[in-house]
Parts: sequence; structure tokens; C-alpha cells
Amino acid sequence: MKLPDPAKLKIVTYPDSRLRRSCQRVDVFDERLDGLAARMLKLMHESNGIGLAAPQVGLPLRLFVCNITGEPGDDRVYVNPEIDEADGLAAMEEGCLSLPDVRVTVRRPSRCMIRAQDLRGQSFEQSGEGLLARCWQHETDHLDGRMIVDYMSEADKIANRRILRQLEAQYQAARPAKSR
Ligand code: ZN
Repeated sequence: MKLPDPAKLKIVTYPDSRLRRSCQRVDVFDERLDGLAARMLKLMHESNGIGLAAPQVGLPLRLFVCNITGEPGDDRVYVNPEIDEADGLAAMEEGCLSLPDVRVTVRRPSRCMIRAQDLRGQSFEQSGEGLLARCWQHETDHLDGRMIVDYMSEADKIANRRILRQLEAQYQAARPAKSR
């Protein structure tokens, strides 16, 4: 797919259908991909997030960025990521830049491996635990159209009902009339 001008990309929010698509593998590693990753990191930092996946800027591509410390040297880009050797289990409250003000307690493996490519197409693997492993899994979920609302317990549904309805109403109101 031809990538759009990165400067035009913005974070898309629930219930935008672009968040629900299964994403395609990235097979072209060029300056446009570098530009996309740089833009995603900028948007993530501006919103004080720790991760952002390509579908969150409207693109159905298997790519995400993350930085769990907020330090400039800790920016990371993962292209075509696969989670493997997931182990352990931990519950933690998660947020998502595409679900402002929504908090969901998500149970996930507490440790995992990730295999991915960098912006040059070079394969690498890392092992992570705690917040880093959680972030990798949350972002990889996005690439399969999965979001934290899919993990909500009955208590989470009640706690988030009002804000989800507000997000749905805002989304409807912002759509151009012709596409309704
Ligand atoms: Zn998210």
C-alpha cells in the first residue's frame, strides 16, 4: 500500500472501524516507512502514551512504536511483530490512546518474547516482562483489530459505559453527513 503524507496522520479513536481491521505485513522498508514511524512516535509522545500501533493512525499495517519510560533514547519500532513464548499471568489496568479515559483491567502473560523487524527490515528478537511485555501484547492486539474493550469484565463495562457512549456520540457527530 502507498503510505500517505505522515504529517496528515492523526490518532483515530473508538469506534472508528479502522481500529478493527486485521493488518497486512509491511514489505517495503523505505524512507516513507521511516517517516511513518517518526510521526507515530511524535503523536504517541504528544499524547503521553507508551505505545501506538499503525491502525491507531488509520493504517492497516503490522507496525507499532513504543517507549515505556518516555526517555528519548527508549523509542522503539517493531515491524511485523510476533509474540512468542508467553508465560505467567498478571492483571493490570490499561488505557489506550484510541480510547481516551477508558480503563480496563486486562489479564495477560507477564513475560514474552517478541520477534520483529526494524526499519531496515533486519529481524531481531527480544524478551520482556512487566510493563514492556504488556505494551508489546497490547500493541500487537491492535494489529489484529483487538482492543482493550474486548477484555472488559462486567464491572469494567459498568465503569466505562458512560465514557464509551460519549465516544460513540462524538464519533457520529464528527462524521461528514454524506457518509452516515
Ligand atoms: Zn491501544
